[in-house]
Amino acid sequence: MNTDLVVVGSGLFGLTVAERAARELGLKVTMIDRRPHLGGNAYSENEERTGIEVHRYGAHLFHTSNERVWEYVNRFTQFTNYVHRVYTRHQGEVYPMPINLGTINQFFRSAYSPGEARELIREQAGELAGTDPQNLNDKGIQLIGRPLYEAFIKHYTGKQWQTDPKDLPASIISRLPVRYTYDNRYFNDTHEGLPVDGYTAWLERMADHPNIDVRLDTDFFDDSQEFSKASVVGQVPVVYTGPVDRYFDYAQGDLSWRTIDLEEEVLDIEDFQGTSVMNYPDEDVPFTRIHEFRHFHPERDYTKDATVIMREFSRFAEKGDEPYYPVNTSLDREKLLAYRDLAKGESSVLFGGRLGTYKYLDMHMAIGSALSMVDNKIAPHFTSGAPLTSGGVDE
Ligand code: FAD
Ligand code: UDP
Repeated sequence: MNTDLVVVGSGLFGLTVAERAARELGLKVTMIDRRPHLGGNAYSENEERTGIEVHRYGAHLFHTSNERVWEYVNRFTQFTNYVHRVYTRHQGEVYPMPINLGTINQFFRSAYSPGEARELIREQAGELAGTDPQNLNDKGIQLIGRPLYEAFIKHYTGKQWQTDPKDLPASIISRLPVRYTYDNRYFNDTHEGLPVDGYTAWLERMADHPNIDVRLDTDFFDDSQEFSKASVVGQVPVVYTGPVDRYFDYAQGDLSWRTIDLEEEVLDIEDFQGTSVMNYPDEDVPFTRIHEFRHFHPERDYTKDATVIMREFSRFAEKGDEPYYPVNTSLDREKLLAYRDLAKGESSVLFGGRLGTYKYLDMHMAIGSALSMVDNKIAPHFTSGAPLTSGGVDE
């Protein structure tokens, strides 16, 4: 087999491993993906009629405070100065998200100072003061009090995860900042922006190296193709970034995932909602949010005759759906531990990325974790013969 390393999946995890292995370690890499394009979920393309760049698998905003990752991604693309801001439409009114002093004052029809607002929320969260909530419902109430929680979080989360917030881990809501200023930036990170000439140009540049052979429309579990699981495992080291339960033929049961359905519409107007993302936190609206892609690139000279919007609906993934978000119930965590044990037995396979580790990874986290895998496992193996795996699934 004329390759040193097989990478399964060409998302940002696989691309980073392939790029580093080829450029830094001089390895011959074969990267396969079952989709007809590379880039995984960060892939985008220009909508045909309008030329507006559309993120095919849901809106992707790049942000990081990791200097190493920021330096790394800037080798392949420049970033615009786009700053993400989200609004939310509750009972016929539009509020800024994440919850900040503007949201609080608008909601309570008041003009609280930061200190007064803190005091109010402290009172409203009083029922859970001093506790350490483990589930999203209690954590949400503790963070912002019950009225704001019920207006902006409870039903949005219920729609998004199709799970009672009492059965979801508190960590999901900890991703969202709560601010006692009028700062309504969505992310807190040092660096933020969108790739100047689009995601796909960035992702293709990562794979553009003579030592990287990309094979699309190629499923790792299709035994008829050259780089299938049956033909490569044990013959050549593999970095696998597909779903971990699929790798083991669901032997320990299915892990639960959430998927999204995106309903795209081209409208013959210049501007539909005046901003890139509008959330819909009310129970009676079936979708969670609407994206309007022109607003991600105000610097571009897009047509004024039309705009592209996408309504996002969320549901449980079934076999055959794209697994997008790990649901992570306690039963899932038990199964994951069993899969990690199985992974320990695969001495020439490293599991990485969002699907391979069953973790909610943002792009910068996927890239950072891939760089660590190259440093800690792949480089020592190829330069000094260290065993490839020392415990299976990368934690
Ligand atoms: P993926 O991008 O999922 O790539 C995995 C690849 O493996 C896929 O291309 C898949 O086709 C391939 N594959 C799977 N099984 C097989 C097989 N059997 N054979 C061959 N190939 C296979 N991150 C942010 O930083 N900001 C955001 O705003 C953001 N928004 C997101 C919105 C949505 C809806 C989703 C789902 C994710 C979002 N993310 C965001 C996360 C981001 O997409 C991930 O961090 C990134 O995709 C991780 O890359 P990955 O390589 O681990 O996985
Ligand atoms: N969330 C919410 N209301 C909102 C926005 C977010 O309840 O208007 C909750 C929801 O549970 C979501 C979590 O906060 O899963 C994290 O939000 P984020 O926007 O980071 O989620 P993503 O869209 O990246 O999955």
